[in-house]
Amino acid sequence: MNIRIGQGIDFHRLEKGIDLWLGGVKIPSEKGCVAHSDGDVLIHAICDAMLGAAGLRDIGFYFPDTDKKYKNIDSKILLKETNSLISGNGFAVNNIDSTICLEEPKIAPYIEEMRKTISSILGKEPESVAVKATTTEKMGFTGRGEGVIAFAVVLLSGE
Ligand SMILES: [Zn+2]
Repeated sequence: MNIRIGQGIDFHRLEKGIDLWLGGVKIPSEKGCVAHSDGDVLIHAICDAMLGAAGLRDIGFYFPDTDKKYKNIDSKILLKETNSLISGNGFAVNNIDSTICLEEPKIAPYIEEMRKTISSILGKEPESVAVKATTTEKMGFTGRGEGVIAFAVVLLSGE
């Protein structure tokens, strides 16, 4: 079997008055991600990790933020399209590990829903998708609530 690993990282600025979408789940929050799409930083990191593992380009290459088609797009659609891209190249997701770095709100209550949402798009069990959360202990831009980071590692299996 052909096993391939990929990593993805994404950052977004946080501003008041924007919905916060993480892992395909809308989370009650004062601030949300500034983006051309819905700003789902976790899904974007996962898409990049999937594309990298398959030896493809990055999310910005396939879904450019200059294209009106992707304005305010639900990132779950981008994940679905990314999955089609990798399966077209003979790969399927084996498992995903990820971490969201965010000062607030606390996202622990939403993690199970994120795992279910992401795994169902990929046709996997929730156990195949790990989502972890951390803070930077009030240090730096994440600590000041100015932004959010997501990291993802994906293992693909191919033919
Ligand atoms: Zn992004």
